[in-house]
Amino acid sequence: MKPILFIDRDGTLIKEPVDFQIDSLEKLDFMPGVFTWLGRICREFDYYLVMVTNQDGLGTPSFPEKSFWEPHNILLKALKAEGVEFDEILIDRSLPSDNLPTRKPGTAMVKHLLNGNFDIANSYVIGDRGIDELFAANIGCRAIRFGTNATIRDNLTALSWEDVYNILKPKRTASISRRTNETGITVSINLDGNGQSIINTGIGFFDHMLEQLAKHSGMDMEISCKGDLQVDEHHTIEDIGLVVGEAIKQAIGNKTGITRYGFALPMDESKALVMIDFSGRPYLVFKGNFTRELIGQMPTEMVKHFFHSLAYSAAITLHIDFDGENDHHKVEAIFKSFAHCLSSAIKQEGANIPSTKGIL
Ligand SMILES: [Mg+2]
Repeated sequence: MKPILFIDRDGTLIKEPVDFQIDSLEKLDFMPGVFTWLGRICREFDYYLVMVTNQDGLGTPSFPEKSFWEPHNILLKALKAEGVEFDEILIDRSLPSDNLPTRKPGTAMVKHLLNGNFDIANSYVIGDRGIDELFAANIGCRAIRFGTNATIRDNLTALSWEDVYNILKPKRTASISRRTNETGITVSINLDGNGQSIINTGIGFFDHMLEQLAKHSGMDMEISCKGDLQVDEHHTIEDIGLVVGEAIKQAIGNKTGITRYGFALPMDESKALVMIDFSGRPYLVFKGNFTRELIGQMPTEMVKHFFHSLAYSAAITLHIDFDGENDHHKVEAIFKSFAHCLSSAIKQEGANIPSTKGIL
């Protein structure tokens, strides 16, 4: 079932003049960003598009038909050029004093859409007035109040069409808890975050590396782990790799719009080249050597094991090639390079799945 966007016209798609009536081309003025962002909404997301507008007294001498349709049709033509085509355009012509049920916030005009064939719970009314919020309440969905703060609880505020886009954009997040006899792990990630992290694995150097991963990938990450460190660090590092990989896989969903990338990064005398492909085929190639056994409390042999766990649970192909003298620098270069690589790979651009197979 498709959700619906019920979109108001005046004050939302086009600017509302002082006399509230758009009855000439001179009065037609588009809302900034409406073509770009509503265009992207239509191209990238799957909503049934319905315009719902009150046009007081349309068809009477105070608001003749012709003076309405001329600017209205130009608006539709301009939107169509950006790929925005309304499935339905519903216009109420009554006056407030008529008190008709077809007039927003009344829902008589949209009754045929509320018969169980659409996903109303995930639908939105987008409009600039209090009556748009009431209209949403009467339909049983949420409103996105445009241009000013929402007044009804749970409704959302959009000060621009870019805000509307960001509200509608599916969230790429995941939270996973995993408990075994060896470790208890909670991981929450947001692929579209800003690099914030709260990391607590019990292994200082590993925390530092995971913070680098968040910072340089732009993901928000919260990781807490209570592992059997009295045995050694192995299970903790391995299992965190598994859960982080699983979280990335969940959050990225069907991979719409992502790119597939590689990144190389120097760190003083060391360098790391990382290549990643969200191929759905787990594979790790790990080339390079460490000379120390431990960095802080983190065994260097566990670096490979961490990326192996992550690559398999995220179902990615991952190549890591590194070189240098200082093992701390080498590991840090690997994590940073992986983070940048991931940041490029998960960036969403457009609505295509980047494979000729149509699936990744
Ligand atoms: Mg309006």
